[in-house]
Amino acid sequence: MARIVQKFGGTSVADLERIKIVAATVKRELDAGNQVCVVLSAMAGVTDQLVGYALEAGGSNNSPEYDAVIATGEQVTAGLLALCLQKMGIASRSWLGWQLPVHTDGMYGKARIMGIETAALEDALAKGEVPVMAGFQGLSPEGRIATLGRGGSDTSAVALAAALKADRCDIYTDVDGVYTTDPRIVAPAKKLDKITYEEMLEMASLGAKVLQTRAVELAMKTGQRLQVRSSYSDAPGTLVVDEDEIVEQELVSGIAYSRDEAKITLIQVADKPGVAASIFGSLADAGINVDMIVQNVSADGQATDMTFTVSTADLDRAVETVAAKKAELDYADLVSDANVVKISVIGVGMRSHAGIAQTMFQTLAEKGINIQVISTSEIKVSVLVAEEYTELALRALHTAYGLDAE
Ligand code: ADP
Ligand code: ASP
Ligand code: MG
Repeated sequence: MARIVQKFGGTSVADLERIKIVAATVKRELDAGNQVCVVLSAMAGVTDQLVGYALEAGGSNNSPEYDAVIATGEQVTAGLLALCLQKMGIASRSWLGWQLPVHTDGMYGKARIMGIETAALEDALAKGEVPVMAGFQGLSPEGRIATLGRGGSDTSAVALAAALKADRCDIYTDVDGVYTTDPRIVAPAKKLDKITYEEMLEMASLGAKVLQTRAVELAMKTGQRLQVRSSYSDAPGTLVVDEDEIVEQELVSGIAYSRDEAKITLIQVADKPGVAASIFGSLADAGINVDMIVQNVSADGQATDMTFTVSTADLDRAVETVAAKKAELDYADLVSDANVVKISVIGVGMRSHAGIAQTMFQTLAEKGINIQVISTSEIKVSVLVAEEYTELALRALHTAYGLDAE
């Protein structure tokens, strides 16, 4: 008997018909003699709508009331699935984050899971019940509901699988696995049978929303076996595994993009010690994450241009934060641009092979796409380009790295 955590995403529980199909999928695992614990997302589109209401009512996206509102979608689906299972004669009940509880820190809107109390679930499983846990939510140290950041029910599932020492954590979604790039944009994208934790972590953090970044981080840390698979079919999906489980490693395994980037350029900022510390220190104090940074060589040794990116949601606050320091930083002008996209090629093969970045630059040049900012790490190269080139750049790069399906 294996112990399996099954997580179903928004499109997989989009309406009652889909929830009945989920119930049938749960039953298949039970019939195979396995123990099953389910984690659910809200119905597709529901969290977006709730976020809209909460923001319109004046809630900030890091407040407890915002979380109280946006966590409700998962309560609905968890209750409905428990009902559908009961109707099929399967003992089941729903569990909300605060009922177990799932302990989180107090960062409302993007809380981290600190631990999950599993005693009640162990009892339920021992009795042959199917626990259905509402994903995306937990209990803060102040006793309030806290949510885990968008896409967070992936993290709920991995944390639960780790806490229950599950043999498998299956993430059911609307694609049948992890692809070389978003299959909705690049039709010849290929499904990967396996991907390393490290590459999946880069893919997720660079924008491939098929798994939430923290879910991959946690799976990697706990060695949790993770599979991304389709809720529409029984076919095997993509396994996220250790590097030594992959026999033939491609140079580039995937290409990710993120439209959630905005660029700020400070023109003619003083070129002296302490300037970067002052700019990025005040952004950090405001809780704003900075992603890419470039500083030009200053021609005269007096002033230089500094460009950096932040997430689109933080753009206005970042501009205000830097503008408030204008007197100290003494820059000539501040220019911002939200119409940019970050495109990244990822592969552990980069560690041992040169020329991957060059292929990227050459391919984009041939399409007349100007690169605004570049950043690299051991296993990825990212470029910032104008947003209108997203599709063109993704398709061209996918072909250039030989990733197109035959
Ligand atoms: P769920 O609601 O099940 O959590 P998401 O919408 O969060 O589903 O994630 C699945 C989506 O991720 C797919 O529909 C696909 O468009 C997108 N996606 C982006 N990059 C990739 C990739 N490399 N492989 C697979 N899917 C990807
Ligand atoms: N419902 C939440 C969201 O839309 C969590 C999730 O789907 O993973 O972000
Ligand atoms: Mg998701």
